[in-house]
Amino acid sequence: MDLSIVVPVYNEEENLPHLYQAIMKAMETVRGQWEVILVDDGSRDGSLGVLEKLAADDPQHIRVVSLRRNFGQTAAIAAGIDHSTGEIIVLMDADMQNDPADIPMLLEKLDEGYDVVSGWRIKRQDALITRTVPSRIANWLISQATGVRLHDYGCTLKAYRREVLTGFRLYGEMHRFIPVYASSVGARIIEVPVQHHPRKFGKAKYGLERTVKVILDLFTVKFLSSYANKPIYIFGGSGLALIFLSFIVLAALAVRRLFAEISPFTSPLFPVSIMIGILGAQSILMGLIAEMLMRTYHESQGKPTYTVRKTLNVDADVPARKRG
Ligand code: UDP
Ligand code: MG
Repeated sequence: MDLSIVVPVYNEEENLPHLYQAIMKAMETVRGQWEVILVDDGSRDGSLGVLEKLAADDPQHIRVVSLRRNFGQTAAIAAGIDHSTGEIIVLMDADMQNDPADIPMLLEKLDEGYDVVSGWRIKRQDALITRTVPSRIANWLISQATGVRLHDYGCTLKAYRREVLTGFRLYGEMHRFIPVYASSVGARIIEVPVQHHPRKFGKAKYGLERTVKVILDLFTVKFLSSYANKPIYIFGGSGLALIFLSFIVLAALAVRRLFAEISPFTSPLFPVSIMIGILGAQSILMGLIAEMLMRTYHESQGKPTYTVRKTLNVDADVPARKRG
């Protein structure tokens, strides 16, 4: 299989026939074998019925995965990726806000040598105050925090080479952070403008509350992508900084004792600095625990701490045997 299009579906019965038509049309110009994995995320409307019909009518292209209940868009996407076989994976929404007509263009970009082609909804057609503005802010924060500069993490329409999608699992609202994970394994990423249409059928499933979740997820992602392999650097770093701060305050109190003859014990700064010092030591100890966890993680699963783009004249199973 060359290409898998993965689509999460939750209460989109009216959109699905249009989506199918649009994908068929877009795929006319695309060479190679392709499939569409539609993941029904516990829909309560007739979506599953529509999907069953599509799958029966076009078994060559349409695959359906039906989840037992509503697990959320990210889990649905993860299920779709797990059930796909394509070397290239395109993610998109089922609600016809993303346009399948953009897919050939994403594929061309991948052919230019990129591993991730990220859609950017330049003319976003969503509510301004509850969606577009918070999303702008979140995108800016994510770019700053992760160093992966994209304008539109939230746009589902993106194309990936399968190699860069392995080695991590998706939790929470984290499908939007796939480019960050991909970048942490060394993927080459490019952003391209894509179309965005207002929703014609069905309802948007999210509001402002999602921005909060996204920002919380950002902490996890930043930590995992930057420090998962060396947690002592962040715990130990903040620990050392705290100990240093406590030392400075204690030194200031000592100086005051020497020259002004004011007892350090009368100042509230004294217990505060002791507390800061203890926090610092705790933080370093926590870092050491995290280091042990991290080793368990890598060694129990035989996970290497690196990712290889390609090898020349090396037998594929050599590194696995070496690692035992
Ligand atoms: N979706 C899903 N499970 C959910 C919520 C949404 O699979 O619990 C799907 C939904 O059917 C759509 C995509 O995720 O295909 C994006 O949802 P929506 O259009 O509501 O989000 P927005 O475009 O407003 O970000
Ligand atoms: Mg939508």
